[in-house]
Amino acid sequence: MINIPKGTKDVLPSESYKWQYVEGMAREVSKLFNLKEIRTPVFEHTELFSRGVGETTDVVTKEMYTFKDKGDRSITLKPEGTAGAVRSFIENGLVNGVLPAKLYYIIPAFRYERPQAGRLREFHQFGVEIFGAKTADTDAEAIIIADTLLKKLGLKVKVKINSIGCPACRKAYNRALKEFFAPYLDELCFDCKSRFEKNPLRLLDCKEDDCKRINVNAPQILDYLCADCSSHFEDLKNYLTTAGVEYEIDSRIVRGLDYYTRTVFEFTSTAIGAQGTVCGGGRYDGLIEQLGGKECPAVGFAVGIERLLMLMEQTGVSIPDDEKPTVYIAGMDENCRKKAFEICAKLRTAGVIAEIDHMERSIKAQFKYADKLGAKYVAVIGGNELEQGVMNVKNMSNGESESVGFDLAVEYFLGK
Ligand code: ATP
Ligand code: MG
Repeated sequence: MINIPKGTKDVLPSESYKWQYVEGMAREVSKLFNLKEIRTPVFEHTELFSRGVGETTDVVTKEMYTFKDKGDRSITLKPEGTAGAVRSFIENGLVNGVLPAKLYYIIPAFRYERPQAGRLREFHQFGVEIFGAKTADTDAEAIIIADTLLKKLGLKVKVKINSIGCPACRKAYNRALKEFFAPYLDELCFDCKSRFEKNPLRLLDCKEDDCKRINVNAPQILDYLCADCSSHFEDLKNYLTTAGVEYEIDSRIVRGLDYYTRTVFEFTSTAIGAQGTVCGGGRYDGLIEQLGGKECPAVGFAVGIERLLMLMEQTGVSIPDDEKPTVYIAGMDENCRKKAFEICAKLRTAGVIAEIDHMERSIKAQFKYADKLGAKYVAVIGGNELEQGVMNVKNMSNGESESVGFDLAVEYFLGK
């Protein structure tokens, strides 16, 4: 037997309705906010991510699924959705179109991580990107979109926000970070030693306990923001308050990807333990230019769908049941089964969810099967019924039966 690769999961038929529900809700919310879907390839040139996500990030240094294709090109399975959306936005000239471009996607993403609850090697994201707008009401809108989705799904979550400033104010902050971490250099993990040199901000995102312990007392970025970044952050807070979105300021949030500027945010829940972040995002004003486009501000986020489903399960949020067949048509003997087949076909053409037996079951076994399927009605065609041109229809919720003519079947079941 060949097993599923480590860190991946099948979505089985008994579970897929939950995915459809969450994805359907994501599309509905996207519509509400006038977002349009963008679909980009599952793989891109490796360089897009090394330049876009950042050379010093965990994603690029250790987590990418990178391989040479048969034409000797370096290809990477997308570890996140933003870089691909930005590439397409630039390549298709949308940067010259009507702005802001408000986009969403539902994608698989691939990261070579240590698999655990809520942390997979293939996972799925609902992502949103808004290109072209620099004002804080746009950052607020991104947060509100995520908040709306999570609330519509019945989750109680709170957003944590922070600002990591622009390259200008971050210069001063990076200096302060280096000063702070210098005495601890020996105690930091191997990765953090290199982060210290290349990108001190990354030190705050380390998941190692020893580094986390040291990080607690590190200087806070919010004390180093320039006037513009500071007023952008104030504006954001005001917009969130106006929209009635509760937030918490958490100066420890820096996010795992390099491209963020100013606003960063996360929606967390303690219910899924260490992997509590269901949604992360922020502003990334430099990325489009960095990937070869013109200067164009942007803000976005991604929701992890597996984590979302875990959270819904753990907090007992109910998901509407998969739709059940309206009617199961059981046939006694061969001729009756042929009639069942014919009526079933007519019902389906009319849009009624109908089912019949395909396994040569006895009539008793057909009843059992109909019950398993959760059919709302069971229609039986026996020898007598066939002669009279009727079927005996039982309403499974109240046990009542009545006789329905073959020619009235569509009329009878439509809308039931
Ligand atoms: P974490 O800090 O948990 O590693 P991240 O900062 O790497 O998350 P992002 O790159 O911002 O996450 O991705 C957005 C969302 O995608 C996360 O909030 C999370 O819900 C989900 N996610 C990220 N990595 C994984 C993974 N390996 N398995 C499942 N979901 C993931
Ligand atoms: Mg990560």
